[in-house]
Amino acid sequence: MSENRCFDRLYALWGEIKDLESAAALAEWDQETMMPPRGVEGRSRVAATLAGVRHARLTAPELADVLAACAESAEPGSLEAAQVAEARRQVDRATRIPPSLATALARARSTGVAAWQEAREQRDFQSFAPHLSRIVELKRREAAALAPDGRPYDALLDEFEPGITEEELAPLFTTLRRELTPLIQAAAGAGEVDESPARGSFPAEDQRRLGMRVAEAVGFDFEAGRLDRSTHPFCQGIHPGDVRITWRWQEDDFRPAFFGILHETGHALYEQGLPEAWSRTPLGSAISLGLHESQSRLWENQVGRSKAFWRWALPLLAELFPGVRELTVERLWPALHTARPSLIRVEADEATYNLHVVIRFEIERRLFAGGLEVDELPARWDDLYEELMGIRPDHAGEGVLQDIHWAMASFGYFPTYTLGTLASAQLFAAARREVEGLEEGFAAGELRPLLAWLREKVHRHGARYRAAELIQRATGKPLGPEDFLAYVKDVTAEVYGLPKV
Ligand code: ZN
Repeated sequence: MSENRCFDRLYALWGEIKDLESAAALAEWDQETMMPPRGVEGRSRVAATLAGVRHARLTAPELADVLAACAESAEPGSLEAAQVAEARRQVDRATRIPPSLATALARARSTGVAAWQEAREQRDFQSFAPHLSRIVELKRREAAALAPDGRPYDALLDEFEPGITEEELAPLFTTLRRELTPLIQAAAGAGEVDESPARGSFPAEDQRRLGMRVAEAVGFDFEAGRLDRSTHPFCQGIHPGDVRITWRWQEDDFRPAFFGILHETGHALYEQGLPEAWSRTPLGSAISLGLHESQSRLWENQVGRSKAFWRWALPLLAELFPGVRELTVERLWPALHTARPSLIRVEADEATYNLHVVIRFEIERRLFAGGLEVDELPARWDDLYEELMGIRPDHAGEGVLQDIHWAMASFGYFPTYTLGTLASAQLFAAARREVEGLEEGFAAGELRPLLAWLREKVHRHGARYRAAELIQRATGKPLGPEDFLAYVKDVTAEVYGLPKV
């Protein structure tokens, strides 16, 4: 096959795989936002069929043949070679997992999630333990199939963060633990932050209006996306021209909705900024969950919790909510930067969030390296919370049962939250160096120059580079904890009146 003909064929086959993924994503979005309760059973069949057809397409002999032909004709180092490499990575993963194992995992996952929901409500780990044991056993088999001579946890990490290894993560997490634990203790000793400026009466409709105005100001294209309600906020990219985000709110505190929408908008800007021309090719997707999370956290935290941003946003808030008319940026800002040990990850502040991830990483790596079994999890979990944060859960519902990830068999997912946090601070530090007057612009409501920088450095590359390489290219250095630690120490010191270190 000539180069052109083989790539035409590759993109035709891949385009259909992407169409199946888009259909699955749309069905999933609908399930979380619009579907009536009795739709669950029918929808889960649709999801299973789409996943099955996609897997069959991905592992079809024709695709393997076309990829082999394309690999031969592509110039090393070229865009085409990168397309082939990314396609092969996905095909290899799909091929290595035996269909019987994939089916067993899908089944264990769906009964696991139901059992987890019930167990969490009842605060009863024992009723969930047999399900979790089964899931862990299947994941150990999956890891062995994916990396027969390799490290099992790396094989699991690779699903969410291609290329990252436990060996690279361990020192990052050690540093975070060493640096953040004393910071949080110092903050706890310095007293409470006054959070009353963020509380009051905030009608849902006005919160939605505010969220949309801010999303639009930072660059969310409502002609290529929408905002709807759901129980848990998320972003679903169906195509660069159709990116959907969701939100929830609290009537007496504007922060969860405001920062939730800004967070999901960050994810959406990445999806809307992916190269349209590649949208039906292997490189047309986001690189990794960590990189995705870097985009959401950058807008939510680095931008959305900055004083400069609030010089512009506070008048908008006051326009919609007369109760905050007297509020100043100086009074509000500390309430956006608490540093308080807590038990629930999804409610954690910026300073403590990564310690929640450290704990999960420690547990996951031991589960897959050997040395820890499912029945030991609750005690190990509680001990780690005591060690790192000085607090202990009263029951499993606020401890080991709080997250859905393990019930969904998503081991290796949690570290991507921290990779995203570190990358968001590092990218923002680079943007500040390169874009003149960036923060003065925020204060004037000029938020697009930052988006333009991100489009250029991150979004337009799709999955062309691995996350590590992209960060290196965009920021001039490998991903590290320095920029995040400098930021969080600075902010926490100012809010709590601690000596700067
Ligand atoms: Zn996110």
